[in-house]
Amino acid sequence: MNDLYARHRGVLPDWLALYYGDPIEITHGEGRHVWDSAGRRYLDFFGGILTTLTAHALPEVTKAVSEQAGRIIHSSTLYLNRPMVELAERIAHLSGIPDARVFFTTSGTEANDTALLLATTYRRSNTVLAMRNSYHGRSFSTVGITGNRGWSPTSLSPLQTLYVHGGVRTRGPFAALDDRAFIDACVADLKDVLGHTRPPAALIAEPVQGVGGFTSPPDGLYAAFRDVLREHGILWIADEVQTGWGRTGDHFWGWQAHARSGLPDIVTFAKGIGNGMSVGGVVARAEIMNCLDANSISTFGGTQVTMAAGLANLAHLLEHDLQGNARRVGGLLIERLRAVAAGLPGVREVRGRGLMIGIELVRPGTDDADPQSLAAVLEAAREGGLLIGKGGGHDTTALRITPPLSLTVAEAEEGAAILEHALRSTY
Ligand code: PMP
Repeated sequence: MNDLYARHRGVLPDWLALYYGDPIEITHGEGRHVWDSAGRRYLDFFGGILTTLTAHALPEVTKAVSEQAGRIIHSSTLYLNRPMVELAERIAHLSGIPDARVFFTTSGTEANDTALLLATTYRRSNTVLAMRNSYHGRSFSTVGITGNRGWSPTSLSPLQTLYVHGGVRTRGPFAALDDRAFIDACVADLKDVLGHTRPPAALIAEPVQGVGGFTSPPDGLYAAFRDVLREHGILWIADEVQTGWGRTGDHFWGWQAHARSGLPDIVTFAKGIGNGMSVGGVVARAEIMNCLDANSISTFGGTQVTMAAGLANLAHLLEHDLQGNARRVGGLLIERLRAVAAGLPGVREVRGRGLMIGIELVRPGTDDADPQSLAAVLEAAREGGLLIGKGGGHDTTALRITPPLSLTVAEAEEGAAILEHALRSTY
């Protein structure tokens, strides 16, 4: 056990998820690469979904942050905050929601928590619909609605949560159904749930389940759900914490892949938009956002420095059409990985959109999850100089690939070659 790991174990909670048998300390990064404390360089195929939407150490963000930090960081909300107003205006416009209002938080957890506060207050109901296999955060309210048991340590919740089907089709009773039959079965399940409960405030859903392993429902599912929700006045909260900002390539927001479902009532975002500075938030039309009838402040949600980072990062993303890059490079990478997978018995499926790619692993010849092989692939990729993620199901069933959106074709090729070697050395 390395010294820092021993000290980590001695002072931090056991339940913090930590990657690798011999965990690494990342000390710096540039572009799509990071270095560890031993000076080893890695191609980063995971940090894009965590902190680094565009590129590590993006010069425009570094400059904006240091200039703003050298000027002022004060209460985010008690005094007028120019960078906050500017970023809110851009996000309101990009959201497509008419008469949109934006509230900034420090994390995705807090963004979803706020969305739940708004929806339950607006609808005067503390019942919430959530998806099986979902992940929405680590606070009391958000673990309470998280459907993925591996990330939800308590069954106590301030909300009454009802789970509906929709995300996972890789195994279980829904696996054998074609798209139409799957949608019909999920809608019947939703109607059944609604028939036995008080009217819920909202359905919260990730357009592509992130921690759940990058599974997306077939096109048309959310549109069919929305018809039912509208009949009951139930709000739709789109959790865009992983899917926002063009990561899925074809669309700027993940929900747009389900466009027939119409605009969400509430959108939440976070993770890489601040390129490492903590920016999260909620967008909703004014009628919903302004339903709270008591004061609120957020000391750190939307500080001048995090907003400056968000503005610089978003400007870079739009100017360089990184959504288009995600579509092009992601498309090539998916194709390349599918070709690799074709010859490997343990790879069940390569799925994804843009630079959000999941690889489902199974014990060869079965449909069973194979967490040991998955851990071995992760370690072998790291040995080869590639960082990737994992997720999926109640076990870990899938590899997750989410580089910064500026990934080049050459880097995609390099990463695919390392991963191919890691998969072949495991299976
Ligand atoms: N929603 C989704 C879809 C997420 O993937 C995450 C983080 N994994 C969160 C919410 C919570 O975000 P944070 O870690 O910033 O609290």
